[in-house]
Amino acid sequence: MKLIKSIEEMQKLADLWRRDGKEIAFVPTMGYLHEGHLALMRTAKSEGDVLVVSIFVNPIQFGPKEDYARYPRDLERDLRLAESVEVDVVFVPEVKDMYPEGFQTTVDVAELSKPLCGKSRPGHFRGVATVVTKLFNIVKPHVAVFGEKDFQQLAVIKRMVKDLNMDLRIIGHPIVREPDGLAMSSRNVYLSKEERYVALRLSQSLAIAKNLVKQSILDGAEILKAVTSHLCQDNALRLDYAELRDPDTLDEVSVISKPTLLAIAAFVGNTRLIDNCILNPAEAYTA
Ligand code: AMP
Repeated sequence: MKLIKSIEEMQKLADLWRRDGKEIAFVPTMGYLHEGHLALMRTAKSEGDVLVVSIFVNPIQFGPKEDYARYPRDLERDLRLAESVEVDVVFVPEVKDMYPEGFQTTVDVAELSKPLCGKSRPGHFRGVATVVTKLFNIVKPHVAVFGEKDFQQLAVIKRMVKDLNMDLRIIGHPIVREPDGLAMSSRNVYLSKEERYVALRLSQSLAIAKNLVKQSILDGAEILKAVTSHLCQDNALRLDYAELRDPDTLDEVSVISKPTLLAIAAFVGNTRLIDNCILNPAEAYTA
């Protein structure tokens, strides 16, 4: 496994691989790797001949009051984990090389970036779309894998690739969870023992919604009421949003008449957590 820090060196290697007819698979991350990231890497490995993983905590996708400075970082541990799933290259660019003085070009996926996390994190998806575009231009992948944990991010990237005729395939990977249901996240390390227990309410409330749909309760307001009352049973959790949206357009949904995204974001202490699932009316019992 090779560690590359230079943008130019990464581009040269990508060119060489392409000349040799190799399929390049890519998983972009912000590091502090966990089993969710590794699952994406295994899928990516099976989709290409060579696998590149980037580790870059992207400053332009964090708001001024967010956790950029304290975001967890441990490159040595990440390299060991990447090696364990046979990553070929770990690309770790530096902020000063990604955003040199004079940098001013951004990518804005206008509509899909507006609701949900885009509303509470202004500019976040512009930062994501911009860095992912840059990483695609550097790593030159044929295929890239993103997690459904960040469902809106995946929708934004798919739209961007389509709109800008980027010549690669985007694959979504299901959410990887801890045995008790908590969606894996680098930010889970921030949680105290008590907070981690409260954090389980996110996945629990998704299960509550799924159960309602199974019982043929398809009214959005009724589902959201059950979800928010479980989430907000006391003030140990502060809800950012719990919404029902069309998985493709992210338009609001009021009745579950087709597969619908239930997306949740909440603060437990100072930690912002997200989770989601698809509610499928075809799963309603017909007895
Ligand atoms: P991050 O390092 O948090 O930016 O995540 C890098 C990639 O891993 C993104 O495509 C995420 O959606 C994905 N990812 C993070 N956590 C999970 C998870 N629990 N399950 C599936 N994918 C995940």
